Amino acid sequence: MPSEQAKSVISEAYKTMAKNIPGFRHRAAQKQMIAEIANTLAPDFQNGLRIAVIEGQTGTGKSIGYMLGAIPVAQDLKKTLVISTATVALQEQLITKDLPMVAKTAGLEFSYQIAKGRRRYACPRNIAQLSGTNQDQVALDFGNEHEATASWERPPADGDLELVAKMEAMLDDCRWSGDFDEWASEVKPDLQSMLTTSNSGCSGRQCPWVHNCPFYKARQGLKEVDVVIANHDLVMADLTMGGGVILPKPEDVIYVFDEAHHLPDKAIGHFAYHTRIKGGVKTLESLGKAADRAAGVLRTTAAREQARIIKDAGNQAKEAMGSIRRAIEQEFPESKPSKFRREGDAQVWRFEKGITPEVFVERGKEIARHTSKVTQGASELHSLLKKALKDGEISNSAVDRIVQDMGNGVERITALAETWDMWSGQDPEGPPPMARWVTRDDGEIDVAVSAITAAGMLRSMLWEEAYGVILTSATITALNSFRRFQRSAGLRDDDGTVYLRLASPFNYSQVGVIEVPKMNTEPSDQEGHTAEIVDYIANCVSHNAGTLVLFASGWQMRKVAQALPEPLKSMCLTQNELPKHEIIEEHHRRIKTGKGSLIFGLASFSEGVDLPGELCTHVVIAKLPFAVPDSPVESARAEWLESKGMNPFMEITVPDASLKLIQAVGRLIRSEDDFGRVTILDKRVMTKRYGRQLLDALPPMQRIINQPAKTNVLSA
Ligand code: SF4
Repeated sequence: MPSEQAKSVISEAYKTMAKNIPGFRHRAAQKQMIAEIANTLAPDFQNGLRIAVIEGQTGTGKSIGYMLGAIPVAQDLKKTLVISTATVALQEQLITKDLPMVAKTAGLEFSYQIAKGRRRYACPRNIAQLSGTNQDQVALDFGNEHEATASWERPPADGDLELVAKMEAMLDDCRWSGDFDEWASEVKPDLQSMLTTSNSGCSGRQCPWVHNCPFYKARQGLKEVDVVIANHDLVMADLTMGGGVILPKPEDVIYVFDEAHHLPDKAIGHFAYHTRIKGGVKTLESLGKAADRAAGVLRTTAAREQARIIKDAGNQAKEAMGSIRRAIEQEFPESKPSKFRREGDAQVWRFEKGITPEVFVERGKEIARHTSKVTQGASELHSLLKKALKDGEISNSAVDRIVQDMGNGVERITALAETWDMWSGQDPEGPPPMARWVTRDDGEIDVAVSAITAAGMLRSMLWEEAYGVILTSATITALNSFRRFQRSAGLRDDDGTVYLRLASPFNYSQVGVIEVPKMNTEPSDQEGHTAEIVDYIANCVSHNAGTLVLFASGWQMRKVAQALPEPLKSMCLTQNELPKHEIIEEHHRRIKTGKGSLIFGLASFSEGVDLPGELCTHVVIAKLPFAVPDSPVESARAEWLESKGMNPFMEITVPDASLKLIQAVGRLIRSEDDFGRVTILDKRVMTKRYGRQLLDALPPMQRIINQPAKTNVLSA
């Protein structure tokens, strides 16, 4: 149980909020969530790990639930509450709306701050270099493709110089905080990369700009506030560095992961590595030049010795890279068909069971050995430079750029050495193997290695280290079970995790219908199925309402959009023809002016799109959202499950389709006043055994199955 103090603060906060918010709705599910969170986080929680997984549909009031449940307990226990979301946009919503609202209406006093990655903040040093304000430095190119002769990694495009000058001016007179999410327009990713810096590229306390540095300002006090609003990537970055680097130590943290169903995949992304051969050669050459310049400035025997090591080991690594490139070209000629294709002509060959072919192993290890030596030498030289700077032996303006280039070089070479080491390494018996593969693309060769599951890492770095964790989302279960999430997240049956599905606030059977009309074709008959979809939309979709049509393939979406008769064709707002936000704005405008509108979207319209009320009264799902294992990681995961005697289709594909289908259906009812229908144009719902399971996992709306399609089933 939480302490009496925490219980009374929670109870008072809830009552105060109810009083202060006009029309406040008491929701049983929200109260249950608050109580469950407070109980799970209590110091005397006996079950095992203090972890609760809570699924609560839209309309439950989850964010208020976890704030009221966790903030008083965290304050009582002197722990930091880290609320992590899947995206920066959700972080912004919490920091600008939800937290201030809770602080104001619940009478709670707490401090809070947002935490984002370094690459979201401008680096004034780099801005000065790019704008030409700080011209006494010359860049060394660590980019993969461009020969840079000045501070730009590529020649400035039209408008780039003006934009950089404007940013510099606005930073100088405090009209911009340096946070790219607060910049009025979108900045091109490659330009943003040049305007920001990496951990190793940052000169830290020795930097002349440090006192006016947006990143340092944003990180100040992060370990002192009561509540930190982070995102899953930042939390994972902190944990992979050992925890307690960016955020407080995990044992002093209560984590709340909102949109928790994204966490396992986000976590896998932090255990994926790749490197390009030509790019690697270029990095080694640039680092050799930077080492010579550093040794020239430092003028010590130690510096000269490190520069020699960097160049000698670098030359050996380049030779080994040339040898492995020839071996890969021979083993995987471009004429050899590959199972996976990337955009353009890129071909991908995955190694069976994650075992790198013998012919590459020794050469890969050789590259890893030589590049590790380069890393050691470069780190040593980088430290010598920073020490000389700190001791005042060399001046900042003379070497700032060299320090930066050495820092960037160390970071790149370290990653490169690790990648080659893992790519040519062997996995231990027992745990799931890594996925390993090679890509050939336009003359370049990319070698890659990735974890296929984050379960073990999440368990050792997070679940067993954190004081407590709350995982919540509108969709966590698949096929009416937490099993899929539990497995991918590395939670065990016996670790004491609490699982809770909150009751929905919606009276589904009264407000919604799920219809699966009689269909003649299977989706495998692409032309026939597409023609049936066209037929259905032409005859059964209202011309005067808001409709969302969700497709599993871009090909089918475009075919249907082209084949529709007028006026439906002109009413169609199709994904990829317009940016997503413009589609939604135009849809709003049409519906608000009494017109009909149809959105044609792919997977990204199935989640996170909010079209309440009349904006969406009909959701059409063209095909069950089965993913094909089209990436080396997914394919390796399926292969591993098969090797364990499991069926990847039933273990992964069907549960994942269930989750996606629930999300797609969830676009219909967004508030207690909503109503409408969902149509699934895929007869496998009726003809396959898993189809019934998928249907049973959907909200309990009325069902109309295998009937001829109707124009408006609600009035039928
Ligand atoms: S402290 Fe680091 S991030 Fe800030 S301006 Fe200097 S180099 Fe850039």
